[in-house]
Amino acid sequence: MQTDLSAEFLATPEGERADAILRTCVHCGFCNATCPTYQVLGNELDGPRGRIYLIKDMLETATPNAAATTHLDRCLTCRACETTCPSGVKYGELLEIGREFLEHSRRRSLFARLVRWWLTHIIPNPGTLRRWLRAASPLRRLAPRHLRAMVRPPAAEDTSAGEGEVLLLQGCVQRVMTPEVNVHLKELLAARGVSARLDPNEGCCGGLSLHLGQAEEARAAMRDNLDQMDWSSAERIVSTATGCGVTLKEYDRALATAPDHAAAARGFAAKVCDVSELLHGFEFGKRDDLHRVAWHAPCTLQHGQKITGRVEDLLTGAGYELLPVRDGHLCCGSAGSYALLQPEIAGELKQRKTAALMEHRPDVIATANIGCQMHLGDGSAVPVVHWLQLLQ
Ligand code: SF4
Ligand code: SF4
Repeated sequence: MQTDLSAEFLATPEGERADAILRTCVHCGFCNATCPTYQVLGNELDGPRGRIYLIKDMLETATPNAAATTHLDRCLTCRACETTCPSGVKYGELLEIGREFLEHSRRRSLFARLVRWWLTHIIPNPGTLRRWLRAASPLRRLAPRHLRAMVRPPAAEDTSAGEGEVLLLQGCVQRVMTPEVNVHLKELLAARGVSARLDPNEGCCGGLSLHLGQAEEARAAMRDNLDQMDWSSAERIVSTATGCGVTLKEYDRALATAPDHAAAARGFAAKVCDVSELLHGFEFGKRDDLHRVAWHAPCTLQHGQKITGRVEDLLTGAGYELLPVRDGHLCCGSAGSYALLQPEIAGELKQRKTAALMEHRPDVIATANIGCQMHLGDGSAVPVVHWLQLLQ
């Protein structure tokens, strides 16, 4: 793709990177075939190729417009388009640059700014989120339908510290809603001679801000984690929420030009692994009460981290029957804060995903990210669990 970005923007690291990414796109449109929002909305501008054109136009003219805001907001950041693209276009990275440009050059409505403030100031603070949920959960029935998955009493916190060669990051939402997942992982590891520890100074990974175009806030959260956590003594760093994991693995890219943190970010990212990578090679048993599993691979695992097959191998190795799931590459609609900000599209995607997952009558649906688990679990006819909870 030919580009003509302004000399001023091209001189920035973001401009240089955006230009390089844009030039790799050959406008073939193959990516539209696997884009969930294109499938739901049928509009070229709600597919990756259309969004790439919108970003290109915006960066060339240095003029944000309402269309770019609408169609970039509707993107799930699922990165299915990256998996499909034959030219290797780094769409997710380009989208981050486009969204950051929009957030700096266009003022949203007061309501939109308030919602985004809530998302980036309440959710990433487990203590505040816990207090907010305690206050709001008695009113759950009054909450709009799309918010109910989120409004429920928080679980008791895991405050154990301990020693260990594996640093287990708890995540902001997961530690409040399903801390039992990480407790179970620690038990699984301990039974196999591996010790895992938490870090009391863990902060938000930065993923939520990054998705909302607030890249500077995201980078600040990343720098805080690098400065305040004891991560260098850990052999591996792991998160059981793939939404956090994909961001943690990209600290090196996000902080590549940060003078005081680039080297630390490279060292940190090199230690991060998904829990399915950490458990590779170990053997597990299965639960007696569940047999038939429908596996929902989060986009942050299969498209973001490019990991496929590992969880499936561990579950079948443990003795579960893994059922076929139609359109397994498609997003369930959760996508970080997307289900809260775009409830209609998220609801349609959830309906399609639930139908596909339930097609072969599973005993349980397993996934790997707290957002997908809560989104799919709300109103589900069968339990929706983290896949680790199926291992013994
Ligand atoms: S598949 Fe890749 S090269 Fe083709 S239009 Fe989509 S992003 Fe561009
Ligand atoms: S990230 Fe997902 S929703 Fe966004 S353009 Fe790519 S495939 Fe479509």
